Amino acid sequence: MNRLAASQPKHLTVNQLLEVVKKINPEADLALIRLAYDFAADAHQGQERKSGEPYIQHSLYTALTLAQWGLDDAAIAAALLHDVPEDTAKTLKDVEREFGKEIRELVEGITKLGMLKYRGMRRYVENLRRMFVAMAKDIRVILIKFSDRLHNITTLDSLPTNKQKRIALETLEIYAPIANRLGMGELKGQLEDAAFPYVLSKEHSWVVELVKQRVADDQKCIDQMITSLKEMLSHTSMKVWSIHGRMKHLYSLYVKLLENNKDISKIHDLVAIRVVVDTVSECYATLGLIHEKWKPLKGRIKDYIATPKPNGYQSLHTTVWGKDGRIVEIQIRTRKMHEEAEFGIAAHWHYKETLNKERPISTQERTAWINQLLKLHKDAKDEKEYLESLKLDIFHHRIFVFTPEGDVLDLPEGSTPVDFAYHIHTDIGNTCTGAKINEKIVPLETHLQSGDVVQILVDKNRRGPSTDWLKFVRTNTARNRIRAFAKKNKFNLNMILRHLIRKK
Ligand code: MN
Repeated sequence: MNRLAASQPKHLTVNQLLEVVKKINPEADLALIRLAYDFAADAHQGQERKSGEPYIQHSLYTALTLAQWGLDDAAIAAALLHDVPEDTAKTLKDVEREFGKEIRELVEGITKLGMLKYRGMRRYVENLRRMFVAMAKDIRVILIKFSDRLHNITTLDSLPTNKQKRIALETLEIYAPIANRLGMGELKGQLEDAAFPYVLSKEHSWVVELVKQRVADDQKCIDQMITSLKEMLSHTSMKVWSIHGRMKHLYSLYVKLLENNKDISKIHDLVAIRVVVDTVSECYATLGLIHEKWKPLKGRIKDYIATPKPNGYQSLHTTVWGKDGRIVEIQIRTRKMHEEAEFGIAAHWHYKETLNKERPISTQERTAWINQLLKLHKDAKDEKEYLESLKLDIFHHRIFVFTPEGDVLDLPEGSTPVDFAYHIHTDIGNTCTGAKINEKIVPLETHLQSGDVVQILVDKNRRGPSTDWLKFVRTNTARNRIRAFAKKNKFNLNMILRHLIRKK
């Protein structure tokens, strides 16, 4: 069931990638993917990762994860090409000439997202997360970036310590929360667990030790309960897709331990049993059968089917007195809920058949911005329309731009370098003489675009802003400051004039 955990070969070949694509998405254009591979392999020729591996291995693994998530051929091709413009002599134009506009835009999106760096400034965290989504424009760009990060974070070992730490922290603070909001629970767990030892090394070792003892204790009991569950359900007419034990991810266990006085005896879902059946009514029927056999703990039955979690998560949870009086959590869900819980938005690329028959996305409450992102489109009928509709336009009225130091400002669409300057500081606005966008000098009335790096040129001797700027500034801040300066100056001028007149 768990495609992510499938064992992966150390040295990946393009044929192995194509095999996976063929199996999961038989209609994919394999020739296109092979072409993208040849192009990328040629461009990265001779380059190595810090680990000493050929660079193209990173591109292949990034593409493999996307293939496993069931993404389309364009996304897989873009994944193979994702580091080409940044790190090789080939440009985005070359990519477009060879692969067309769609793939160029995906690759460009990934390159732009690469500029986004988290420097541990907590007050920018939420802005960064939003910008990450806003800049992506196409949800596939986010998924490619996730897959890129997943490979990077699991191959951090050969990097210098300070870089390890920065990437791991960014993964915890930016990537994992976005994965969570997009409902990609399995990915969130993988990202967090990979980053955990680099960010909190002592705490990580502590949790690993704790788990070792407990799991050894629990394993036998869990196995026996799984066997009797299988036996029980085999006497019914229910379609059971899978019954398996699942380990809690280490980082989320750590967070839960902190909430529970670091007392592991209070954690009942370290190992949980997961039952995957076919329909919602079978979920409830299974819950009944389980409670007949094992007594539930009071107040521990959670119906996330009737009331889903904010990120859309659905399942029934119960905690029972299991074998030998051990407390065990059991989670019951349909296959569709399971896919969505593990893969979130990516699940929609995979199960075309369920997608066509059922609603494309559950209508549960989601956190505000994801809700916005999805609500316009929940009625889209066919998959293509649905995927089209996932193009992210929720921030169309805001743009996100960088200072040369990498800090992020969000401004209304149509903002100019002057708005940017006043947004940073009144003095910067008042002494502004020119601007560079992405290192090129531009006119002050230029409209900024998301992802632009904006540098303001100042002259300390400049008298102040030009009232001409009022014709093009977009923000009230800039407009008010320019007017205020003009007013004050007029006042000064009047004083001087009056003074001169009096002298006469
Ligand atoms: Mn990369």
